[in-house]
Amino acid sequence: MSAQAVLDRGTRVGELACTYVPGGQLIDLPHNAFEQRIAATRALLDRGTPVIYEASFSVDGVYAAVDILERKRGRWHLVEVKSSTKVKEENLPDVAIQMHVLRRCGVDVSRAELMHLNRECAYPNLEDLFVREDVTAEAEVLQATLPGEIRAQLSMLSGDLPDIAPGPHCFTPRECPFYGRCSAVLPPHHVSTLYRVRQKGAEFVDRGLETIDQLPAGSLTPVQARQQRAVRSGALIVESGLARALRAFREPLAFLDFETVGLAIPVWDGCHPYDSVPVQFSVHYLAADGSTRHEEWIADGPDDPRSGLAGRLVEACRGAEIIVAYNAGFERGAIQLLAAGVPELAGELDSIATRLVDLLPVVRDHVYHPEFGGSFSLKRVLPALVPGPGYEDSEVAEGGAASAELERLMFHSDDMSEEEKASRRSALLHYCALDTMGLVRLLQRLRALAGVD
Ligand code: SF4
Repeated sequence: MSAQAVLDRGTRVGELACTYVPGGQLIDLPHNAFEQRIAATRALLDRGTPVIYEASFSVDGVYAAVDILERKRGRWHLVEVKSSTKVKEENLPDVAIQMHVLRRCGVDVSRAELMHLNRECAYPNLEDLFVREDVTAEAEVLQATLPGEIRAQLSMLSGDLPDIAPGPHCFTPRECPFYGRCSAVLPPHHVSTLYRVRQKGAEFVDRGLETIDQLPAGSLTPVQARQQRAVRSGALIVESGLARALRAFREPLAFLDFETVGLAIPVWDGCHPYDSVPVQFSVHYLAADGSTRHEEWIADGPDDPRSGLAGRLVEACRGAEIIVAYNAGFERGAIQLLAAGVPELAGELDSIATRLVDLLPVVRDHVYHPEFGGSFSLKRVLPALVPGPGYEDSEVAEGGAASAELERLMFHSDDMSEEEKASRRSALLHYCALDTMGLVRLLQRLRALAGVD
């Protein structure tokens, strides 16, 4: 999902959260109008306003804006709103720094809370959409460390660029947006591209091991060892067990891919925050005589898509003994969610779920191409194994972008012309069809590699 889509989601959740703490005044000024925001906040405090949204303060070069500041018995509770569904360790410094700045500005903060979405909440009853968790004790513990941390960060910001190589810190607590730029300077097959390397990547670098071919064999898992053999030989590796693993894939086959939206604020009956609801599918059907047909469906507008999609999906998969997916757990979860929302088709949907067979582990456990780069995502595997028209020509390049695009098209498309909507729908249909057509070609290629054409 793009950074802008994440920000937009956070804004929507933040605005809704304020309605759960009613009676307040919003500091409704541009986010970078720092001085005016601080002055407006001070005026509301002086006036005895009971709740302030986006109250803003600054001290010693540190600026803090509080999502919700609530007066309770003459003291203040600060509330940080998160669009996540639980308190995360990384949220606590955020709350602690607000507490620090407010107290230094003379605001008597007695309590700090994180207000986040509640996964148990189900539409249409949104009374318990938010959970407020008291994190005062955790924020208090961090207070002693803050003056030193602030000094260190201000000094870092005014200094030269730090000279630190990419490593696990680039992905914790979330992926750094500069990773593409920093990793471009790494040598090919750097240890950070080892399959599931995690923390061990930094340990390898510390030991002076920079590339995958240098790694000692004893430290590698079977998949990592296969990756190393492929890197060393510069060639595709195919294990002898591939033919046996492919026996499960017998026509008639249906190749299935869903695109989903995970709405922070649910809008359809029975849905919870971030349920991955399928709103689009593509099915390529491969008959026993080798002929193929294609079926697809995409939601149009904000209405509940589950019944319409489920009906078409059941028809598209009818007659297929095996339903092929890639990383099938995702498709299985989506089908279960559909079955709960469309009980009249639950039996047929369950039948689709039981016929699902996953092609990903077949590739992961038997095949490695040096261009996989440590990943078995379809976007890495297809270009390496079945070159041809692919994602580089597609306006939508990956699942997160498709999900954000679908959410925008379904719920926030008022500013789009009909032509633009049609063009975006067409791009999404093309993208989803690329995945299932790619699966058909991938299976054919695997069969050729295994000698079972
Ligand atoms: S990707 Fe980000 S965290 Fe990693 S080295 Fe580059 S700037 Fe630092």
